[in-house]
Amino acid sequence: MKYISTRGQAPTVDFAQAMLSGLAPDGGLYVPETWPAAEPALARPGIPYATVARSVLTTFAGMSLSAGAIDRAVTRLVERFRHEAVTPLVQLDANLWLLELFHGPTAAFKDLAMQLAASLMDAALAGSDSRLTLVTATSGDTGAAAVRAFAGAERIRLIVLHPEGRVSPVQRLQMTTVAADNITNLAVRGDFDDCQRLVKGLLTDEGLRARGALSSVNSINWARLAGQIPYYVTAGAALAGPAPRFVVPTGNFGDAFAGWAARRMGANVGGLVAAVNSNDALARVLTDGVYSRRTTVETHSVSMDVQAPSNFERLVFEATDRDTDRTRALFETFAREGTVTLDDALLARLRAEVSAVTVSEAETRAEIAHAWSAYGQVICPHTAVAVAAARRLDPADGPVVALATAHPAKFPAVVGEALGFDPVRPAVLQGLEGRPEHYRKVEPTLAAVLAMLD
Ligand SMILES: *Cc1c(COP(=O)(O)O)cnc(C)c1O
Repeated sequence: MKYISTRGQAPTVDFAQAMLSGLAPDGGLYVPETWPAAEPALARPGIPYATVARSVLTTFAGMSLSAGAIDRAVTRLVERFRHEAVTPLVQLDANLWLLELFHGPTAAFKDLAMQLAASLMDAALAGSDSRLTLVTATSGDTGAAAVRAFAGAERIRLIVLHPEGRVSPVQRLQMTTVAADNITNLAVRGDFDDCQRLVKGLLTDEGLRARGALSSVNSINWARLAGQIPYYVTAGAALAGPAPRFVVPTGNFGDAFAGWAARRMGANVGGLVAAVNSNDALARVLTDGVYSRRTTVETHSVSMDVQAPSNFERLVFEATDRDTDRTRALFETFAREGTVTLDDALLARLRAEVSAVTVSEAETRAEIAHAWSAYGQVICPHTAVAVAAARRLDPADGPVVALATAHPAKFPAVVGEALGFDPVRPAVLQGLEGRPEHYRKVEPTLAAVLAMLD
């Protein structure tokens, strides 16, 4: 399998190259040159998660990584999950299911792809005996999952930027209490947008580039999305019958695009619904065709506080029938002007691929309480956005799966307030307090961050 850029001006690469470079050199995102079909055998219910993941990764990584490397990555992933099914489905109501994605080492769905990406990157670097620096901005979950996945990796240095005081205490402790020489945690005196801007600055800094290969583990990286396809395949197979609609709590649209890819590959995936909080660029563009950036609003579902969902570019690329010139023009205009208007034909195509539902803060809190009283489930604010959106769909239209993306104990303040009791911490979130923390505070300027990296 080869990979091309959504902007059409970068050389074709293999899986390992796409994974190690993150963004394509023309500023586009890597996508498979053609969409493969999932192995038909995977449509049977009850196939182990490891089997599905191995098959999906082999399809995408093909010749570029050895079968042994893929096998080791999948085995490590499954070993680190605390649930035998890895991503169990829990039925809430006659036609409503919860897909629990939070049984991994940092109790958020990002573990699923990050654990795989860490092993696969290490294997790819071992082949050429080279080294890589990864930089990533986080509003909490990405950083925690990345620190845990990459800690101790021999050939990789990881630099994580989080906005000081704006990640939950549990999320901060998950990142900062891991003692590993190859991890640098920076608390930026600014917001998440400052962190993203600084990461872009680092990725294009000549001096840093001169010191070695540089990449990112945000969901622009195709390896992240490839690692999120398997649970759509297993959930679709488990609910064999009318294809379920998946409601995905959405920030950068990476998870939802993985669902789109699973459907494109023939998995039993019906509609895709992106559930968003007040940072609703995706819902607005699907309503009126205007894609525009606004100031980020802080919400309870912090990991979805994203104004310009990076993976929207992959969807636009597909909805234009892979027209790279149009995709490039649209996103260059958006980058320059902060707004771009789509024509009616493109808007109609996008609406045929996905829909979006906006959920307010009040509805999010109310859903946390409702899920407990109606289903006996304690859910996190991100999951609550998805469940609230799922309950707005007509159950007569068939089964609905809402994705549960984080464990509620990562967000004790809002969950405790909505329920009147604190969510019980799973073992992986216990004993964090009191451990030594490793991080440094930094001003939100590129010069200040670069000075920290010497
Ligand atoms: C990252 C994250 C999301 C959003 O996923 P995207 O791929 O960015 O759309 C939703 N919920 C939780 C808990 C997350 O950590």
